[in-house]
Amino acid sequence: MRIPLLSRKGQTATDPVCGMDVDTKNPSGGTWEHEGVQYYFCGPGCNRAFQKEPEAYLSGEKRMEM
Ligand SMILES: [Zn+2]
Repeated sequence: MRIPLLSRKGQTATDPVCGMDVDTKNPSGGTWEHEGVQYYFCGPGCNRAFQKEPEAYLSGEKRMEM
């Protein structure tokens, strides 16, 4: 049996703040570029938190629990 193409998952990225999967085509929290890397967010709150302290979230020092 072949797997229909329609069941394929779209492209997602991981929200660096809360760890959720975010649709890169339609990120509900928008995007933010940090040191040449594009990040995607599940919501504006995560985006703002990341902009304030990107290093804290990238290093794993901080993480928002959903
Ligand atoms: Zn998030």
